[in-house]
Amino acid sequence: MKVKVSVNGFGTIGKRVADAVSKQDDMVLVGVSKTKPDYGALLAVSKGYKLFVPEEKTETFEKAGFKIAGTIAEMLEKSDVVIDALPGKKGAEMKPLYEKYGLKQIFQGGEKPSVADASFSTLCNYEKTLGLNSLRVVSCNTTGLLRLICTLNREFGVEKVRATLIRRGADPREVKKGPINAIVFNPPTLPSHHGEDVKTVMEGLDIMTSAVAVPTTLMHVHSVQLVLRKQASRTDVLDALERAPRIILMNAGDMGVKSTAEIMEVARDTRFRGDIPELVVVEDSVTVHGREVMLFQAVHQESIVVPENIDAVRALFELANTWRETLEKTDKNLGLTYRFY
Ligand code: NAD
Repeated sequence: MKVKVSVNGFGTIGKRVADAVSKQDDMVLVGVSKTKPDYGALLAVSKGYKLFVPEEKTETFEKAGFKIAGTIAEMLEKSDVVIDALPGKKGAEMKPLYEKYGLKQIFQGGEKPSVADASFSTLCNYEKTLGLNSLRVVSCNTTGLLRLICTLNREFGVEKVRATLIRRGADPREVKKGPINAIVFNPPTLPSHHGEDVKTVMEGLDIMTSAVAVPTTLMHVHSVQLVLRKQASRTDVLDALERAPRIILMNAGDMGVKSTAEIMEVARDTRFRGDIPELVVVEDSVTVHGREVMLFQAVHQESIVVPENIDAVRALFELANTWRETLEKTDKNLGLTYRFY
């Protein structure tokens, strides 16, 4: 039996997650929700996704020429699980409705951790979340940090993490958001919440983060310093990152790629929608001094959490017993290669 999945909110994350669900053989996409008969609704229809709308908007959509499959309530009624991809904090408001229909729930990182039974990151805590009722896939920044930390933790142990996050100001299509010409202390008080968010998955980790937001829409960049538990050489660390799933170890010098603009250009040339669901670690930056590691990594905020949403469905329904099992399935179906070429 395939798990019936609905995607509530068809924006930046929702449209990508809907595409990813429709590529899996153990789940089926019931449909997606839209509140306005705009380009996003046309996109959903052009992909053959069933469109569900708020009851009071039925007429508006029909007048605009859309054939709708039903109301959002009807979409939820037909589903086993809802992936909530509404703007931050709206998911918590919808939770009572999801519960009314007896649905398992997946929320995104814009929600508070308390919205779900556990925060989730495949490489870190898949097995601990098997069979739960609800999960919160942590944010793009937290997913990026956790991919790195859990990979190195498995190989060498991680004692301590300090990271500075240089965050994109807004997503490419978000014309109303800034900053336009500033670097914003995001927030001015330290540490930033990102380290605390990492701890919702890796309880007890010694981590502190700071963050600034900059006028770019392309990617986030993290400057990370870690202390390993075991001594490792630079070659050991590079080997571990090279072997790791969902990480692209990119040699900036060899590629002639020294900025997020150029990384995105490579992605636009090689990837569907220009998405990079993998974490990009800059090989040249990896510096090892005793047990200390320093590096730069780049996060494509629009797509990095997409594979984790699929794994979260498998965790809730125990469709795969281990993180490796779900990861291999998800990544094969999404065509992830962990390299650009
Ligand atoms: P978005 O604004 O691009 O998409 C949200 C969509 O939900 C929009 O299409 C909006 O019209 C729709 N919507 C609003 N209210 C609705 C309702 N009542 N019913 C149905 N649809 C409704 O937002 P996003 O960037 O996709 O973010 C979604 C979640 O994912 C947030 O929690 C966010 O923090 C998280 N997230 C975002 C990013 C990112 O970089 N964009 C990365 C990781 C996680």
